Amino acid sequence: MKGLLDQQFGQGGMIITKVDTLINWARLSSMWPMGFGLACCAIEMMSAYASNYDLDRMGVFPRASPRQSDVMIVAGTVTFKMADRVRRLYEQMAEPRYVISMGSCANCGGPYWEHGYHVVKGVDNVIPVDVYVPGCPPRPEALIGGFIKLQEKIRKETLMRPKAIENLLKTTA
Ligand code: SF4
Repeated sequence: MKGLLDQQFGQGGMIITKVDTLINWARLSSMWPMGFGLACCAIEMMSAYASNYDLDRMGVFPRASPRQSDVMIVAGTVTFKMADRVRRLYEQMAEPRYVISMGSCANCGGPYWEHGYHVVKGVDNVIPVDVYVPGCPPRPEALIGGFIKLQEKIRKETLMRPKAIENLLKTTA
């Protein structure tokens, strides 16, 4: 909302802003993560949804289906057996979609990084990650911090510019 109010003129309730700013404000104010967890980190994630931390006030509502979700929180240990399912669920989410890697296991294999023959050493080997939340497990406040980082990322995005021009700008930058 801050970005929008910065551009408000007078007392007449008129707002002049970019379409991107308006769309991004709506998107970052209503992030819907998929409701699933993989291991102990998921307990802290559930706690963040509960009344003490109340992620709802940031517009974060867990959804039961990847079709209705735009954020995936990978909370816990990603085993090789589970990696396929994680990728399939990610691919079923509509774009633009985001991933928060929550906890050491999802970030890099955690306690299993050396001898965990069955554990993927970082979920970014399977799907792209936007925000990493460190800890074993991270506290709910850390997950909320992860969402704030993701909001900052979304705030800078543009959905109005065609991808081809976007790529061209990247290569000439
Ligand atoms: S990072 Fe720690 S708390 Fe989280 S899933 Fe791994 S072992 Fe459990």
